[in-house]
Amino acid sequence: MESTAAILPSHLLQVALSRPIPTLFDYDASAFPDAEPGQRVRVPFGRSELWGIAWSWREAGEVDAARIKPLLDIDRASPPLPASWRALVEFVAHYYQQPIGEVAAMAAPPAISATRAERANRRFRATPAGSAALDTLPARDVRRKLITALIEAGDLNEAELRALSSRAAVALERLLADGLIEPALPQAPAEAAHVLSADQAAALAALQSTAGYAASLLHGVTGSGKTEVYLRLIEDQIAAGRQCLLLVPEIALTPQLQARVAARFPRACLHVMHSEMSDGARAMAWAAAQSGEADILLGTRLAVFAPLPRLGCIVLDEEHDPSFRQTEGVRYSARDVAIWRARNEDVPIVLGSATPSLETLRHAIDGRYRWLRLTTRAGSARLPEVHLVDTRVFRATDGLSQPMLRAIESRLGRGEQTLLFINRRGYAPVLSCPACGWAAGCTQCTANLVLHAADRRLRCHHCGAEGPVPHACPKCGNQDIQGYGRGTQRLEETLASRFPTARLLRIDRDNVRGREHWQEQLDLIRRGEVDLVVGTQLLAKGHDFPGITLVGVIGADASLHAADFRAQERLFAQLMQVGGRAGRADTAGEVLIQTAQPEHPLFAALKAHDFDGFARSQLAERAALGLPPHGFQLMLSADAPELQAALDFLEAARRAALALAVDGVQIYDVVPMRMVRRANRERAQLVVESRSRPALRTLLLPWVANLYRLRVARGLRWHIDVDPVEVWNTLAAAAVLGSHPRSAPVEHP
Ligand code: ADP
Ligand code: ZN
Ligand code: ZN
Repeated sequence: MESTAAILPSHLLQVALSRPIPTLFDYDASAFPDAEPGQRVRVPFGRSELWGIAWSWREAGEVDAARIKPLLDIDRASPPLPASWRALVEFVAHYYQQPIGEVAAMAAPPAISATRAERANRRFRATPAGSAALDTLPARDVRRKLITALIEAGDLNEAELRALSSRAAVALERLLADGLIEPALPQAPAEAAHVLSADQAAALAALQSTAGYAASLLHGVTGSGKTEVYLRLIEDQIAAGRQCLLLVPEIALTPQLQARVAARFPRACLHVMHSEMSDGARAMAWAAAQSGEADILLGTRLAVFAPLPRLGCIVLDEEHDPSFRQTEGVRYSARDVAIWRARNEDVPIVLGSATPSLETLRHAIDGRYRWLRLTTRAGSARLPEVHLVDTRVFRATDGLSQPMLRAIESRLGRGEQTLLFINRRGYAPVLSCPACGWAAGCTQCTANLVLHAADRRLRCHHCGAEGPVPHACPKCGNQDIQGYGRGTQRLEETLASRFPTARLLRIDRDNVRGREHWQEQLDLIRRGEVDLVVGTQLLAKGHDFPGITLVGVIGADASLHAADFRAQERLFAQLMQVGGRAGRADTAGEVLIQTAQPEHPLFAALKAHDFDGFARSQLAERAALGLPPHGFQLMLSADAPELQAALDFLEAARRAALALAVDGVQIYDVVPMRMVRRANRERAQLVVESRSRPALRTLLLPWVANLYRLRVARGLRWHIDVDPVEVWNTLAAAAVLGSHPRSAPVEHP
C-alpha cells in the first residue's frame, strides 16, 4: 500500500448509499470538520453524485488512498439521525440480509427539511365568516376542503390539515389572512374513560407491572376493548413524560383511531405518519417525533423507523395483518422489527389481535410473550351468530342463494344494514368465449384480465395493464363473449336489480379514492344512509358500524384450496374480522357464509368462535410438516426477461447452498412461480427451510455473500426474503409442475 497516510482513518466516513450492494462506502471527510454520523451527505459515486447517510467513522485499517473520494456536501438543515435509528437499520439489514444502503434509504425521512415542524401543532377552527363563505368557494378548491374538515371536526391541528392535501400549507395562510379560519385553543374535555371490565383491568395491571422490555399479546375479539386498554397504557406513558408509538396495518384505519386518541388526549401532541401523506407532512411528523415534541406517533409500518428519544411503549394493533410485511423492495416485517426495537430500547410492546398470527401465538404459548386475554365483548354487545348456507343444496343464482336473499330482505324490512363481503373487485374475474375457450389474458402477466363493467375496461390486477373490451372473440369471432365469475361490481348490479329500492354502496379499491372519500363513505354507512354495502376486505378491518346486523360472505371457498399454506389462517382471520362488523352495538348480529363445503373444520371453528381450536389444529399441521412457526423459511426469488435466466441463476444459487453443507436444512428444487410472468418479467423461486433457526442463519449469511458473487444475466434481479409470508407450499409447487411431491430434502453427510 502506498500513500495510505494521505487520509487519516479518523477522517474516513462510511456512508450508506441506496445501491443494491451490501456494503458502506468510504469517503474523505477531512474538508468537513463538522461531519458526523447520521447526517445526510452528498458524495461522488461513479460518474454521478448521490445523497446518502453518513454512517460511522472508519476504524483504523488499510485503505487505498488513491481510491478515496472526498465528501461533497452536508445537509445541515435537519438534525442527524440518532445512533438508535442506525442500530435499527443495521438490524434490518443484517436480519433480513438486505443491502444496508437500501434499508437506510427506505427508513430515512423524506429529504425535505422540516423547519416548520414546530408549527404543526397549531390548532385551527373555522370562523363564522368561513362557514358562510363555504358555498362560494369552488368545489375543488383546497380551502373548501379545509373549512369543511374544520367544521366537521370542530378543530384540527396543522399536521392534520396538511395531511388532507399537499397544497394545504399555502391555503391555510390564505384562509388565516382572509379571516375564514382562526387559531383554536386545545379544547374539549377528554373523552370519558370507561370503567374497565375485569379482563381489561387484569390485562392493564399485567402491562403496568413491568418496567423495561416485555412483549405481550393482547388477545380479544373485535369489540372486546383492546383499544381501551391501549389508551390506558398510553395515558400512563404520557403522564410519565414518555412517547408512544402506535402502529396500525392500514392507512384507512388511521382516521378513526386518530379521532379517538385525540379525543382522549386533547392536550397531547399527536402525529400521524403513513405513506400517502405528502413528503412535507411526513417530514414534519418525523421531525416532531425525533425532536421529542410528539407524545404519540400513530402510523403504518414505515413509522416503526421514526426516532423517538423519549419512547415509553409500542402498541401494534392487528398484529396478524399481512400489511405489516413489506413484500417489495426491502423485505421486512414491521411487527418483528418493532419487537426488536422494543427490546433494544428496553420498552414494553403490546401486540393486539382477535386472531393472532400463529408465529405470535406460538411465542405466547411458549411464554416468551405474555398472553393477556379479553374474553367478553365490552359493554352489552354479543358475538354474532354464524350460519352456513350449503350451496350444493341452495344453488346460488347470480352469486346469491335463497337463504341469503331472504336474510337480506328481512334486514331491509326492519331498516337494518347488511354488509356483503366478497374478496374480489371488478365485475368478473375472467372474460371468455364459450365457443372456443379463449380467455382475455394479460400480455405481461400469467393472469386473466378482470372485466370492469362501469367503464367497459379490462384490467390486470397485477401489473395495472388495461385495455378496451373486445366486441367479439379475437380468436373465433363469436360475438357472445361473457364475463365469468363474480366481483364486487357484478354483485352490486345483481343486488340493484333484486332490491331496486335499497340504497347501495360499494367499497373497494376502485371505488375509494383517497382518505377523505373513504371517510365520507364510512360516514354514510354509520349514519344509516345506505342499506346494503358490498365490500372487500378493505371494509373488514377495524371499523365500527353499529347498524350492520347481517354480514353475508360470498366466494370464501377459493381460499380453502389456495396453494399458500397460510391461506386458511388468513381466511379465518378475515371471516372473524368481517363477522366482528355484525352486532357490535346492542343488536345481535348474524354472519351468513355461502359455501359448498360446510363440513370444513374451519367453518365449525368459526361457528363456535373457537380461534383456539382452529389455531391448535393449524399448529399441529404445521408442526408435522415443519412449516412456520414450527420451522423457518428463506425464499430466494429471481426475475428476468427470460425464464431460463432466472432458473439458471437459482440453480447456481442452489448449488452454492448445497456446497455450504449445513445440517438440518432442506433446500428445495428451483421452481417457476405459480404466476410465472408478472409485468413482463419471468419469475422463479427457491425455498430453503429448517426446523432450526440457528441452522438456517448458519446457511444464510455465507450464502447471501456468495450470491453477490454469482454471475448475473442481463436484466436479472434477485431478492432474498427471510421469513417470507407468501409461500405457496412446495407440495403444491411440485404438483403444478407434475413432478414428485415435496422434493426430497437433501441429506448431508
Ligand atoms: P377493540 O379495540 O377490542 O375492538 P374497543 O376498545 O374499541 O375494542 O371497544 C369496543 C367498544 O366498547 C368501544 O365503543 C368502546 O368505547 C367500548 N368499551 C371499551 N371498554 C369498555 C368498558 N370497559 N365498558 C364499556 N364500554 C367499553
Ligand atoms: Zn371464441
Ligand atoms: Zn398484467
